[in-house]
Amino acid sequence: MSKTRRKFIFVTGGVMSGVGKGVTTASIGALLRARGLRVTAVKIDPYVNVDPGTMNPVEHGEVFVTADGQESDQDLGNYERFFDTDLGRENYMTTGSVYLSVIERERSMGYGGKTVEVVPHIPLEVISRITAAADRANADVTLIEVGGTVGEYQNILFLEACRMMRLDRPNDVLAILVSYLPVPGTLGEMKTKPTQYACRSLNSVGLQPDMIICRSTHLLDESRKRKLSMNCNVSPEDVISAPDAPSIYNVPIRLHEERVGERICKKLGIKTKGERMKPWEDLLATSSKQAKQVRIGIVGKYFSTGDFTLSDAYLSVIEAVKHAAWAVGRKPEISWLNSEAYEQSPAQMKRELAQLDGILIPGGFGSRGVEGKIRAIQYAREKKIPFLGICYGLQLAVIEYTRHVLGYAHAHTTEIAPKTPNPVIHLMNEQEERMKNHDYGGTMRLGNYPCVLAPHSIAQRLYGGAALIQERHRHRFEVNPEYVPRLMEKGLRFSGQSPDGTLAEIIELPKHPFFVASQFHPEFTSRPFSPNPLFLGFVKAASGKRKH
Ligand code: GLN
Repeated sequence: MSKTRRKFIFVTGGVMSGVGKGVTTASIGALLRARGLRVTAVKIDPYVNVDPGTMNPVEHGEVFVTADGQESDQDLGNYERFFDTDLGRENYMTTGSVYLSVIERERSMGYGGKTVEVVPHIPLEVISRITAAADRANADVTLIEVGGTVGEYQNILFLEACRMMRLDRPNDVLAILVSYLPVPGTLGEMKTKPTQYACRSLNSVGLQPDMIICRSTHLLDESRKRKLSMNCNVSPEDVISAPDAPSIYNVPIRLHEERVGERICKKLGIKTKGERMKPWEDLLATSSKQAKQVRIGIVGKYFSTGDFTLSDAYLSVIEAVKHAAWAVGRKPEISWLNSEAYEQSPAQMKRELAQLDGILIPGGFGSRGVEGKIRAIQYAREKKIPFLGICYGLQLAVIEYTRHVLGYAHAHTTEIAPKTPNPVIHLMNEQEERMKNHDYGGTMRLGNYPCVLAPHSIAQRLYGGAALIQERHRHRFEVNPEYVPRLMEKGLRFSGQSPDGTLAEIIELPKHPFFVASQFHPEFTSRPFSPNPLFLGFVKAASGKRKH
């Protein structure tokens, strides 16, 4: 498809946030891909932070890292998983990042001394980023998900970008409204009025939705479809019913049944073959089959704000566990374990961990709950329960080993104990200066780095015999190489290293059913149709432990 024929679909949200706009966008992309089209997606977050990397996980949830090192929103994870494609820097923007570019360009005379104005220069920068992402992916269709809800002050310039693009190329740009239809408990009846107002809000910024995707607890009935069609100026076939689904992987099938892909292609004048939904149907069949369970405990810390935030912060980890479990024919049962409680009550820890088939320690920062995580790792190591450590999980596993096997009782990471006599985890060289200068934004070791796998190691076996792999990172600290020889002598194997041999990437214990940890984040590359090898090995080992 030539450059001029590129198509764009803006996805906006109505009524409230958190209704699955990201999954809907990802699913629309999946349908278009299932027609053989090249698809990419851009996520726009309306906040002023340049990226979410410096935000508290409770504020933001997971920070998804792309291969080229962009710290971005978890929706990029959904797109990558649903499109089975790597995305990059050009697929993400925030208000802060857009303004930053415009201001930097102005400072370097990039606007040739002209007055730089919020409109049109900010929407023009947004449009140029969207078209750059489309060009980069050579995409037939580019989806643009506008974060937040229509009617909010802070995303108005992104809607303006949509309006301007549409004016410029009327046959190439669609606007989809993903809205919510509440069923108030007192009425027991689905209400369409909030969606009508959301549509009016869009109209008030010069946009008419081409399609309304109606999220609700229930299916939308014909009379409500007609009502919305009539009041929102959308044909009844473009009012789509998208009720709550048992899993996010049901959504592409649901939207396929509502002929969303077909309608979109018709509107955009794209001719394709039909949608090939077989892989999605198979995935659904495997995931919903009542298979045997595998119980995985994720020992983390973000519990004070409740389960929702917690699972949000570890979204890719959860998905990676699911992908691996389905691949080995198991039903994943994930439990959230509070490492802080383990510091008070070792009895509770034993009681909880003894129930599990596998223990996972995900990435993290700071001191809260760390001692509890170290205890959980010790338990997994000594009781031979399959263990997977990710990033902080690797660092804490090395601390645990140094303390309890090497006998350096005060070994620690300088992240939380700068004066420890045994800094077995310390700041990477390149980070020292940055920390001194409070240069925090986007300065961790981010994105893909190569990792050499040791011959005949568990890690190499898991990665199918590969000698070199690439995985994604997000950290400032590393295993202190001074301690590596002593740790190796006591049986800890460093089975993955940076090519120059200085940085520990994977550790493993040969005489354990499964004890592997990585400095990188394997969860970011796990896909529903191709689970990450470390997760697969871990869940397989955990499934082996459980006989029924
Ligand atoms: N806090 C650790 C570091 O910065 C681990 C980071 C992580 O788990 N993502 O190195």
